[in-house]
Amino acid sequence: MSVPATERVTAVVIGAGHAGLAASHFLTAKSVDHVVLERGEVANSWRRERWDSLRLLTPNWQSRLPGLRYEGPDPDGYMTVPEVTEFIERFAKVSRAPVRTGEDVSSVRRDGDGYRVTTGRGEIACRVVVIATGACNRPTVPALADAVPASVRQLTPFGYREPAGLPDGGVLVVGASATGVQLAAEIQRSGRPVTLATGEHVRLPRTYRGRDVLWWMDAAGVWDQRYDEIDDLTRARRLPSPQLVGVPGTTLDLNALSALGVELVGRLAAVRDGRALFSGGLRNVFSLADLKMNRLLGTFDDWARTSGGDAEVGTAERYEPTRAPETARLQLDLRDGRIATIVWATGFRPDYQWLDVPVVDAKGQLIHEGGVVGGPGLYALGLPVLRRRKSTFIYGIEDDAREVIDHLVKYLGMRN
Ligand SMILES: Cc1cc2nc3c(=O)[nH]c(=O)nc-3n(C[C@H](O)[C@H](O)[C@H](O)COP(=O)(O)OP(=O)(O)OC[C@H]3O[C@@H](n4cnc5c(N)ncnc54)[C@H](O)[C@@H]3O)c2cc1C
Repeated sequence: MSVPATERVTAVVIGAGHAGLAASHFLTAKSVDHVVLERGEVANSWRRERWDSLRLLTPNWQSRLPGLRYEGPDPDGYMTVPEVTEFIERFAKVSRAPVRTGEDVSSVRRDGDGYRVTTGRGEIACRVVVIATGACNRPTVPALADAVPASVRQLTPFGYREPAGLPDGGVLVVGASATGVQLAAEIQRSGRPVTLATGEHVRLPRTYRGRDVLWWMDAAGVWDQRYDEIDDLTRARRLPSPQLVGVPGTTLDLNALSALGVELVGRLAAVRDGRALFSGGLRNVFSLADLKMNRLLGTFDDWARTSGGDAEVGTAERYEPTRAPETARLQLDLRDGRIATIVWATGFRPDYQWLDVPVVDAKGQLIHEGGVVGGPGLYALGLPVLRRRKSTFIYGIEDDAREVIDHLVKYLGMRN
């Protein structure tokens, strides 16, 4: 026999980051009664899970949410974490989102033709659920971390705040996406010699032909490319974040890191007998990233030519290929004291342990079609390439949320 629910609403949104708040904005616009349940505070991930020096890698003019945009004096600058937090808090206020903080959802399960949502404070019965709990709930750490000698301290970006929090000595940063390159640079600058293990990565210049590279992504329509137009969607959804940092005019690619003194090595393949073993073929990895970057720049050039925008921007540029070390190190003794810390910048993953509906695949990813999840009346927002390439970015949520909530409203209409 089912326990009577303490409360009944039409829609429950889980998560009060920008994605959940955008869902709330459109639910309100469509007069759908709802609550937004948040285990911590509004913008919780930005408050608790980011390092001190982080700035958005998207420029301020791209900090845009439904009904709210950046209006400060520096549209081409990049927000600090407190600024992002404040921006999202403002969005919650302006859109009068019915947020309940401190409500940790421990279960969502099917109940009749709707769902039953359990939090520490009770149960809510609802018709539809929007999952906006984020794509980056947990850092991904490879299983080989278990073989790292106990003398080496291991950290993820969630535990890292600033270089001063690390012991003195060398640091092995594993992963060369946005997080890895940013942490490698600041740790190296702090006087701790960094070795950076580099697998597949996405190289981008900060500015191209005088404009922010993300301006080009937007103008050339790359970010608007829809999920159902992408040939290899699974791959697109797994793509690492680009090597970018939110410092005006600063390109933080591997050449820039080499110039700082960071040692580049291949992908960390194994830890055996206290030794870190790296893949060879660094040159190939670098060439592939250079090739893909040049292909993308070619797309931008084509767009500038065909749209007649050539005269508005600088001349086409190409960059020095990524410099591979003469002989890349293939192994590193983790017991000899040179490496004091390993920072796992190996990506993030979502966490759906609370979801008692069979809509998560063997890799822990939600099964959905453009945010419409397999369970009827279950929706998602804020996942990589959910409906467009820009889906996980603040800038990308408006179009996705509008469409997903439109679908949800039609679903409710059909049920009525
Ligand atoms: C290091 C890093 C840098 C980034 N930089 C940029 C950038 O420069 N520009 C940009 O546009 N995007 C950036 N992003 C991507 C994206 O904007 C952020 O990940 C953003 O936080 C995602 O928003 P969200 O609302 O989807 O998820 P989140 O902000 O993660 O919000 C999800 C919310 O759900 C809550 N929650 C989770 N589980 C539960 C539960 N069971 N019960 C109740 N509440 C729950 C969490 O507490 C959280 O508040 C970055 C991401 C990372 C990780």
